[in-house]
Amino acid sequence: MLLSQLFTKTRKEALKDEVAKNAQLLIRAGFIHKEMAGVYAYLPLGLRVLSKIENIIREELNSVGGQEMLMTALQKKELWEKTNRWDDKVVDDWFKTTLKNGTELRLAFTHEEPLTNIMTNFVSSYKDLPIYAYQFQTKFRNELRAKSGIMRGREFLMKDLYDFSRSKEEHEKFYEKMKEVYMTIFKRLGIGDQTYLTMSSGGSFSKYSFEFQTITDAGEDTILYDEKTGVAVNKDDDSEDIFADFGIDRSSLDLKEARSVEVGDIYSLGEKYSKALGLTYKNEDGKEQYVYMGSYGLGLGRLMGTIVEALSDEKGIVWPGSVAPFTYHLLCLSKESRIKNQADKIYDQLRGKNIEVLYDDRDVSVGVKFADADLIGIPKQMIVSEKTLEKGTEAIEIKNRKDGTTTQGNVGDIEL
Ligand code: ATP
Ligand code: MG
Repeated sequence: MLLSQLFTKTRKEALKDEVAKNAQLLIRAGFIHKEMAGVYAYLPLGLRVLSKIENIIREELNSVGGQEMLMTALQKKELWEKTNRWDDKVVDDWFKTTLKNGTELRLAFTHEEPLTNIMTNFVSSYKDLPIYAYQFQTKFRNELRAKSGIMRGREFLMKDLYDFSRSKEEHEKFYEKMKEVYMTIFKRLGIGDQTYLTMSSGGSFSKYSFEFQTITDAGEDTILYDEKTGVAVNKDDDSEDIFADFGIDRSSLDLKEARSVEVGDIYSLGEKYSKALGLTYKNEDGKEQYVYMGSYGLGLGRLMGTIVEALSDEKGIVWPGSVAPFTYHLLCLSKESRIKNQADKIYDQLRGKNIEVLYDDRDVSVGVKFADADLIGIPKQMIVSEKTLEKGTEAIEIKNRKDGTTTQGNVGDIEL
């Protein structure tokens, strides 16, 4: 893509009312637009990153048998009354609305109820199970505080997967597998080293659940973590009970404390929803059983914001290659036409190979080009200049955004 054609522009200054570093940088670099507190639009660069995050998650979930679907944001009362989650005293962050005929509706903050209800149409025998269904869908939550940029939205994209299993054992096997799948996703997103499997209280369903916490000062949580074993506990839930119940001798751990953000969580739901909504199956002996469930959330905006918080530097964003909006940021450092023509040719050559490249073809100074490239954060800057042209018509220099190191190369040797 030609930078001159991109409708977004970079900004020197952050918005006055934006306190979160992730949103400040993403707004300055033109990835997102702030509509109001906790509500952000994804602009072309931002959508490219979001889609890459989505695809990595999709690939990993499909690899363990996940089936993608898309549920509705509008929710009807009956289902939520059956599970006692309609009342504001029980769920305080619902957004409400009403049809013209007076029927009360709400905007989904999660989807256990509608999906369990959908499954009653398709599940009747043990042969129908297990099922792993997931979606990428907009959730609405009337969050009290929305000061963490895209890490805590009032409208945000979530991946939510639900498992429908024949037994606790079958569910637990999948639950363990998902811990690995989540860690693989975080590694691919470039935040694997900072992300810890964290024990926390299980809420109303089980004694414990697991969260995935990424260490960053921008986080709203605090974890106690052990670098050697890679395990952590949410400080809010720290108790002698946890490290006993998991057979870990706390005195042998040298626990460190850090601010962190919950990027994902996984719950055992048991039979709570299947009982309330009548989701049963006949086992091999013809006996009616309740389906055993679990749920697995991941916030896409929260992940994107966390990547920005964890990996950016004083010059701007530093994307990991896996989610960068483009693979290369092509910079022509001269206004001389023979060098500019050369850069145009290199741009065409890269596009011919289906390599994603953002070409700064604007008539601006070298300083502005580098400042914008550093702010936008594409990990590899490809430079064409008088110096490279002296070495040959295909010569280029690659500058690494993260550490500023450079290597010389040939555009013909660049692979996808
Ligand atoms: P938190 O304690 O941070 O409010 P939660 O316990 O409400 O999170 P879940 O309801 O389990 O989170 O949602 C699953 C995932 O969705 C979270 O792990 C997080 O990644 C993401 N998420 C939750 N709330 C938000 C939000 N307001 N904005 C962006 N992402 C969110
Ligand atoms: Mg919440």
